[in-house]
Amino acid sequence: MSAIQTQDSEIFEFIEHEKKRQKEGIELIPSENYTSAAVMEACGSILTNKYSEGYPGKRYYGGQENIDAIENIAIDRAKKLFGAEHVNVQPYSGSPANTAIYFALLNFGDTVMGLKLDHGGHITHGLPIAFSGKAYNFIQYEVDKNTGKIDMEVVRKLALEHKPKMIVAGFTAYPRDIEWKKFKEIADEVGAISVADISHTAGLIAGGVLESPVPFFDVVMTTTHKTLRGPRGAMIMCKEKFAKAIDRAVFPGLQGGPHEHIIAGKAIAFGEALKPEFKAYAKQVQTNARALAEAMKKRGFTLVSDGTDTHLILADLTNKGVPGKQAQAVLDSVGITLNKNTVPFDSRTPMDPSGIRLGTPAVTTRGMKEPEMEMIADWLDRVISNIEDTALHAQIKEEVKTMCLKFPVPGII
Ligand SMILES: *Cc1c(COP(=O)(O)O)cnc(C)c1O
Repeated sequence: MSAIQTQDSEIFEFIEHEKKRQKEGIELIPSENYTSAAVMEACGSILTNKYSEGYPGKRYYGGQENIDAIENIAIDRAKKLFGAEHVNVQPYSGSPANTAIYFALLNFGDTVMGLKLDHGGHITHGLPIAFSGKAYNFIQYEVDKNTGKIDMEVVRKLALEHKPKMIVAGFTAYPRDIEWKKFKEIADEVGAISVADISHTAGLIAGGVLESPVPFFDVVMTTTHKTLRGPRGAMIMCKEKFAKAIDRAVFPGLQGGPHEHIIAGKAIAFGEALKPEFKAYAKQVQTNARALAEAMKKRGFTLVSDGTDTHLILADLTNKGVPGKQAQAVLDSVGITLNKNTVPFDSRTPMDPSGIRLGTPAVTTRGMKEPEMEMIADWLDRVISNIEDTALHAQIKEEVKTMCLKFPVPGII
């Protein structure tokens, strides 16, 4: 019996239910993945007991010989994986990491450019009600209405008009590759600091599938738990000249003691990402996303930007006559998990938007390939086209479970 089972049956039961849900359902939320058993073991280890404010070799408490070694390994592996000059592995998650970048390199009220939330940006990219939007003067760019893609000429014009101190490039719901070099050129033209937020695509970049902004951007942030397949957390990479400011902003500027159990998990995940198998995974994530996008288009789905270059698909369900919220709820009931999402120029509200966002990292980690993408598109179509047919939903739930049980989830026995 596990210690949790012995001591706290209430929590144990929910973990068991969640295990079953993760095993028997199809996970299509593009920001989710299944991390390895080794990563989970590190995150559940005795390292959670230790306080280690400061950085390796410069801590405020004693007893750091093992902690320093672990954090240095995490830093070295991240440097190797992305070719970064400087890495800070302490950010608790993506949102505090972005906040630390702003705190390090801006003054309150400074002008920054970021992609608008309902066009694919993140809440930390200047949403008016978020800290980023309140503390800084965010100018938000949009995608083009016809193509669904970022128009770099529009970005350039906005930059020339507003002269931002920083330009943030990166996304949370944008299916296309980003023109990093053009962003950097524009930033240089107006003298702005270039920040890339690769939270969603870090795994595809590390796996060599998408171009990396790390060699030429000033600062690059990524979460570690999305396509990168590590534990829940983040890291900041930057050019040496920003290293001191970034480190000071993370600690003591914003955070206290780092979560060294999670940093050990990050080190293990970076080690996994340095192996050849990770390249094959990254390639397959993209292949699966393209296959799923094509299979959905064949079934009459309207995709924002008409497809994907990454792991992520954004579908506008307006022509299907089903709002995103209802689609999410009914698909949940058959064991297919994805999220409702606004589409660019959405006529509905964020809580009940027109679209759904889906992606292939988790299903790819389980070993699913093109034939399974065809099956998934078929289930999506049958459920959404028959949104009231509960008998059909019950049947599809069984079909989904049968397929899923052929693909074990890493870390779940
Ligand atoms: C997920 C994400 C974040 C924030 O990550 P959290 O760990 O959820 O705080 C930041 N930026 C982008 C682009 C993201 O997709």
